[in-house]
Amino acid sequence: MRNIVLFGPPGAGKGTQSEFLVHHYGLVHLSTGDIFRWNIKDKTELGKLAQSYMDQGKLVPDEVTISMLKAEVERNPDAKGFIFDGFPRTTAQAEALDAFLTQREDSIEAMVALLVPEDELKTRLLARAATSGRADDANPEVVQNRIDIYNAETAPVAEFYKSAGKYKAVSGLGSIEEITERLVSAIDD
Ligand code: ADP
Repeated sequence: MRNIVLFGPPGAGKGTQSEFLVHHYGLVHLSTGDIFRWNIKDKTELGKLAQSYMDQGKLVPDEVTISMLKAEVERNPDAKGFIFDGFPRTTAQAEALDAFLTQREDSIEAMVALLVPEDELKTRLLARAATSGRADDANPEVVQNRIDIYNAETAPVAEFYKSAGKYKAVSGLGSIEEITERLVSAIDD
């Protein structure tokens, strides 16, 4: 299997780039943010629980997120591999993913990170609010909270993959096509 973690702060462009990568490599896209939003829309129990955290820009608890992610992987037995987008977001999630994949005699091939300066992230998220309809994009305090939590809890996840020799980073600035090319050459390298 070909499993790739697409990594980066909120607003880095993970969702946009995932669309290209899943087509290019024939993989299944697993975005934990999207899955939570579908659950909110369908008013499921999981959606109700996740919404209270997401509205404040906080992370949904690991236990909930990890079991949801495992179920999604298991729902796709024919997948050639996955693009994990927005997961793992904590070191505990990275460890759980590693253990889960090892159990399945599988592994992560690489983590590719999109590097974008913080000022640019805030500009992008607030601009995206106009079209995304996402309450967590529209409120500057929630945006700041998401970035702060990213720096405190998510950025350290890169170390997990660096120490495994699986970390690659590219600039997330430029045109969508330019960034896609950088990601593809990093992955194929
Ligand atoms: P972005 O990367 O732009 O912040 P996402 O769509 O990936 O947006 O995530 C939106 C929200 O969903 C997060 O702020 C968080 O509340 C929740 N979420 C998504 N993925 C995870 C995760 N792996 N662990 C905990 N919470 C998550």
